[in-house]
Amino acid sequence: MGVPTLACHCAVCESEDPHDKRTRPSVLLAYGGRNVVIDTTPDFRFQAMRAKIDRLDAVIFTHGHADHVMGLDDIRPYNLKQRSMVPIYGSLETLATLRRQFAYIFEEAPPGSTVPLVELRTIDGPFDLYGLKITPVLAKHGSQPVFGFAFGRAAYLTDFSGVPETSKALLQGLDDLILDALRYVPHPTHSTVEQSLALVRELKPKRAWFTHICHDLGHEAANARLPENVRLAYDGLSFEVQF
Ligand SMILES: [Zn+2]
Ligand SMILES: [Zn+2]
Ligand SMILES: [Zn+2]
Repeated sequence: MGVPTLACHCAVCESEDPHDKRTRPSVLLAYGGRNVVIDTTPDFRFQAMRAKIDRLDAVIFTHGHADHVMGLDDIRPYNLKQRSMVPIYGSLETLATLRRQFAYIFEEAPPGSTVPLVELRTIDGPFDLYGLKITPVLAKHGSQPVFGFAFGRAAYLTDFSGVPETSKALLQGLDDLILDALRYVPHPTHSTVEQSLALVRELKPKRAWFTHICHDLGHEAANARLPENVRLAYDGLSFEVQF
């Protein structure tokens, strides 16, 4: 829902700490002059301005939930500037969801109007994206499937409540693991701080970054309770990844 959460006046929503201003979760992979985003959140336009993204080369979707896809319409300026389609990667289910949610993109556009120009590409295994190998990591998001993605010595795994053993094998011993830790209180479709800490102990990344954080977690107070190598991610966080 983002922090501050609409109509909430809790201590975290009213916090002056800029780390407690959280837009919806997304990642930009910038390499070799290419920009690839994982998910287009409802905050995509604002995030792309803030990160000064001047070109967009692909979007990879984790799943079809509104907080991860609803910014898709805002890729149009990149279509216009680059005079090309933007490839969109996702599971069969996610691409089917996008076709429903954004039916107008796939229908004949009325003359004079612009709609996002996309090319759908189904993820059915590891794939090469402009020289970077992206490995999908299947996880459970409640009863639904969700894709995490491993790239180089890092991985991004948001919106999960369970990780099968076969997927854990793909996440062992990374430098940086970015993972869902919604809150302290159990949730049917998300990982808690405690559950994510257990996963970090099991997967042993050098560093772990918690994301998809709700207003139950104040940045400073929550960080103070975490082990040294585990930190809350925050808007604008960036780091280099070996690949
Ligand atoms: Zn609040
Ligand atoms: Zn979700
Ligand atoms: Zn989500």
